[in-house]
Amino acid sequence: MKKIALYPGSFDPITNGHLDIIKRSLCLFDKVIIAVNNNSLKKFLFTAEERVEMIKDVLNYNYFSNVEVESFQGLLVHYAQRKEAKFLIRGLRALSDFEYEFQMDLMNRKLNPQIETVYLMTDQRYSYLSSSIVKEIAQLGGCTKNLVPSLVEKRLLEKFKDIS
Ligand code: ADP
Repeated sequence: MKKIALYPGSFDPITNGHLDIIKRSLCLFDKVIIAVNNNSLKKFLFTAEERVEMIKDVLNYNYFSNVEVESFQGLLVHYAQRKEAKFLIRGLRALSDFEYEFQMDLMNRKLNPQIETVYLMTDQRYSYLSSSIVKEIAQLGGCTKNLVPSLVEKRLLEKFKDIS
């Protein structure tokens, strides 16, 4: 049976930290579905369509047959069921990630005990990296090179030019 994993997140926008997790997940699973959160409870800088498009561009999407990128709404475990994914992938950085992930893991397990979450420790190069910090730097006119792929760097510049 094919091992299908979902890598859920906001990806607002995708960073080099996310990319590292995606590449490493592809060595572990037959298929990885990057699930872009589009729940209206959260406020995003980029629309779901923009976030999906950026991920596809960065991954050179058509090249890989074992990656899928889609946005989703509603409960993650329901989406995972629809996609026949038995695994969720999450990245772990500082201790502060742990508390939230622990709560989510227990809740997801309660909602669907068949789905197992797999945690990948961040690469030390990206341990301080988050989409929020990248957005803050870009908004304040700082350089985001080496933090995000160059096409995302460009999109951030455009986005903040549009907003200001
Ligand atoms: P969410 O809003 O679901 O936390 P994010 O896009 O911020 O969405 O993160 C998605 C997943 O990627 C989370 O598991 C997060 O811990 C992980 N992640 C984000 N940045 C990094 C990084 N620099 N290194 C490793 N994992 C990361």
